Amino acid sequence: MFKKVLIANRGEIAMRILRCCQEMGIDTVVACSSEDRNSLPVQFSAESVCIGPAQAAGSYLNQEALIEAAKAYHCEAIHPGYGFLSENANFAKKCEDNGIIFIGPSSRMIREMGDKQSARAMMKKHGVPVVPGSDGILKSWQEAAEIAKKVGYPVLLKATAGGGGRGMRTAFDESEIQNAYESAEAEAQAAFGDGSLYLEKLIQHPHHIEVQILGDSKGGIIQLGERDCSMQRRNQKLMEESPARILTDKQRDAIHKAALKAARAVHYVSAGTVEFVLDREKHFYFIEMNTRIQVEHPVTEAVTGVDLIREQIRIAAGLPLGYKQSDIHLTGHAIECRINAENPAKNFAPSPGQIPFLHFPGGKGVRVESALYSGCRVSPYYDSMIAKVIVHAPGRLEAIRKMRVALEEMTVDGIETNINFLYLILFNNDFMVGNIDTGFLEKNTDAIIRWGEESRKAF
Ligand code: ADP
Ligand code: ADP
Ligand code: MG
Repeated sequence: MFKKVLIANRGEIAMRILRCCQEMGIDTVVACSSEDRNSLPVQFSAESVCIGPAQAAGSYLNQEALIEAAKAYHCEAIHPGYGFLSENANFAKKCEDNGIIFIGPSSRMIREMGDKQSARAMMKKHGVPVVPGSDGILKSWQEAAEIAKKVGYPVLLKATAGGGGRGMRTAFDESEIQNAYESAEAEAQAAFGDGSLYLEKLIQHPHHIEVQILGDSKGGIIQLGERDCSMQRRNQKLMEESPARILTDKQRDAIHKAALKAARAVHYVSAGTVEFVLDREKHFYFIEMNTRIQVEHPVTEAVTGVDLIREQIRIAAGLPLGYKQSDIHLTGHAIECRINAENPAKNFAPSPGQIPFLHFPGGKGVRVESALYSGCRVSPYYDSMIAKVIVHAPGRLEAIRKMRVALEEMTVDGIETNINFLYLILFNNDFMVGNIDTGFLEKNTDAIIRWGEESRKAF
């Protein structure tokens, strides 16, 4: 096992990795920006190193500085967390070239799966269902229009380098396709330095269902059940649950098998996620594979009892999986809420600032992942997600009730958050019967905010 690991991330995921390393007897070095010098992971880790300025480009995305820090502090491995460099094949390659273990899959696999269009082609070749659409990169908007006519509108133009919900545009008819193409291309060029696009039929009112995978370097691959992440705002997840209420046992089994087939096709090593959209007829289609640990991994940990970060580290150290497929059973129901420093009433504008006081919920089956502490500052430089609340209960309704109580108890003073917004969702009828698709929030956000304001006035 590793003696020392460099943690190349910040916030809640840095804390999550740090705690896990400490439990495993691994020393840690937290790499931080100058902005994060007083962060909880920095205070909690035996060693830390400042790798650059507040702007992520000079720090959390600074490949050279991270490699140098790992060498200077004698770290055998780097954990990239999620976001930042976690899906950057060049960085994984640099680690490999410098004899440092990147805790994740190989640079080759990241490259293969990170190019979403070639991942799609590979899945199709191996018999995993993909959304009807283009074969290969589109050459022009005219070509997109031709293919759209064949597969039928509405369609989605997607950046092959895309991530975080960016570089995607819908076109509902022919008149919209040129505009959609050009703006997706421009956004992808600006965000990823690559404007290449492909096209998929837009599945209407889909569920986003994803399957957690673990694969080791000995060829062992298992699935750890699915998550329903249909509660999304602007293609970004807000609430996730496991298992997916919408699936019958037969459909669940089929989607697990498809995910295993996808992972086996690429000989996947590490923790990863195979993402699908599920249409109204409950046909499912592969959309992408995320070659990293995900934000929502704790819901899977709750229902399976497996520590995914620990497994990920063990796999990177060359150890075999600690579990066989027959060891994995989904027990009860788990829900995660992503707590963001943002103001829902002001179009979810980020709300950074000082938190003079906070209180986290607790109790049986309640877990909070966060790097906040009373007196800390939420920086304007980074993602607005400041905490995750995860509950686990025997059934879905009990989990919903547990989450309501947890969010009622949670206090974050000094800044605006989406806690009350999430709380109100937990009382929505469609949510309670599990009848929500990825369009739910777009349709209901205004009503939820109005309802919140009215109920505040009433008290
Ligand atoms: P998950 O499925 O784990 O929720 P997301 O796509 O939401 O994955 O990304 C996780 C985190 O990484 C988020 O904080 C998101 O903002 C960030 N992220 C994802 N992809 C990118 C990217 N290409 N560039 C910058 N940030 C990204
Ligand atoms: P990213 O890399 O940004 O996570 P994804 O390909 O996973 O991009 O898509 C993000 C979200 O967009 C999905 O979770 C899903 O809600 C929606 N989406 C993606 N492809 C389709 C599609 N073909 N039809 C309908 N919705 C889609
Ligand atoms: Mg995705």
